[in-house]
Amino acid sequence: MNALLNARKRYDYLVVGAGFAGSILAERLASQHGAAVLLVDRRPHIGGNAYDEVNSDGILYHKYGPHIFHTNSEQVVEYLSQFTEWRPYEHRVLAQARGQLVPIPINRTTLNMLFDAKLETDEDAAAFLASRAEPVEDIRTSEDVVVNAVGRELYELFFRGYTRKQWDLDPSELDKQVTSRIPTRTNTDDRYFTDSFQAMPRDGYTAMFKRMLAHPLIEVRTGVDFRDVRDEVEADHIIYTGPIDEYFDFRFGKLPYRSLKFDHRTIEQEQFQPVGTVNYPSPDVPYTRISEYKHLTGQQAPRTTITYEYPSAEGDPYYPIPREENQQLFKRYEALADETEGVTFVGRLATYRYYNMDQIVGQALATFRRMHEKREPAKAAAVAVA
Ligand SMILES: Cc1cc2nc3c(=O)[nH]c(=O)nc-3n(C[C@H](O)[C@H](O)[C@H](O)COP(=O)(O)OP(=O)(O)OC[C@H]3O[C@@H](n4cnc5c(N)ncnc54)[C@H](O)[C@@H]3O)c2cc1C
Repeated sequence: MNALLNARKRYDYLVVGAGFAGSILAERLASQHGAAVLLVDRRPHIGGNAYDEVNSDGILYHKYGPHIFHTNSEQVVEYLSQFTEWRPYEHRVLAQARGQLVPIPINRTTLNMLFDAKLETDEDAAAFLASRAEPVEDIRTSEDVVVNAVGRELYELFFRGYTRKQWDLDPSELDKQVTSRIPTRTNTDDRYFTDSFQAMPRDGYTAMFKRMLAHPLIEVRTGVDFRDVRDEVEADHIIYTGPIDEYFDFRFGKLPYRSLKFDHRTIEQEQFQPVGTVNYPSPDVPYTRISEYKHLTGQQAPRTTITYEYPSAEGDPYYPIPREENQQLFKRYEALADETEGVTFVGRLATYRYYNMDQIVGQALATFRRMHEKREPAKAAAVAVA
């Protein structure tokens, strides 16, 4: 029998999942409430999807695909900066289209390269896009959003094939919010994100998580599934950051996810591609993108590690599939979660939504603030971040 279970130690909190959501709550509860926390993760490591490690070729890479940190929240930066220094980094993405590598999101440079359009100003580019746009009266799907904004040719070139590969659904079958988030620019800004803070943890994500969890009141057990300890561990409260449907034994059915297969490779050359990520929207190429970590990390080395991403129906749950019926199913689980005493559901898998890392940091800090307010209403604001 597991030594952990023999011990029958009591904890104030059992936290399930050592990604951003679980690790931040463990850290806050231990450091601010003096709570004894047991943090378990079924993977053999901390950090959740943001986990990075040095591979056998000596290159720092991200096991679950490239994670680029960007945020507009000062509070999120202030909180994480307790556990890491930062390396300024602005992500750039190129897409392979018609034999060229062009900036994505589409900007004036993209249009000039593809159409030899000689657009000199924002107004020129706006007029060019307007002349190609094909107005759709009732915008319902992802296809409608893009065709309405940039017309069918650019839609076919950049969106249709990519979306079909990513989701195994045609954009005409996907909710409009999937492509509503994708901007089109009339200037020449070729940064992928425009957030006020864009930087990578200087020593990597895993190092940041290690510092976050290095508190004497936090006990970390990796390679331990909640299922194996839920009836054994004595804890006053559970923080659950795993899949919400799994918590309730899939009683209404499975929440659908899209997964990815990562093919990590090390190449014996200093640099593989000119930017961090190159997208391959063509339906003839089986992967969606290739990322090269040295751009992100600034590491100097004679070789380089890259990752091919192949979308897949099978595997770890990465992207909730954005369709109305799936949201309805989630709502049924959410109602059960709301009725469940003694468990707080937090994080991307428990809320069945795609969130960026900074949003999960914000969600975890807000969850802690609410827990703190219940305990000590007057002092709540003071300790939420510090
Ligand atoms: C391919 C990809 C690229 C991404 N790129 C970016 C990016 O560039 N920038 C960005 O801001 N965000 C990015 N994200 C999003 C980012 O990964 C998430 O915002 C973040 O990981 C969410 O943290 P979390 O703690 O909610 O979940 P997770 O990191 O998934 O952590 C949940 C943890 O719970 C564990 N767990 C689940 N069930 C159990 C159980 N029963 N028992 C024990 N442990 C359990 C899991 O093993 C996991 O480690 C990306 C996501 C993907 C999939």
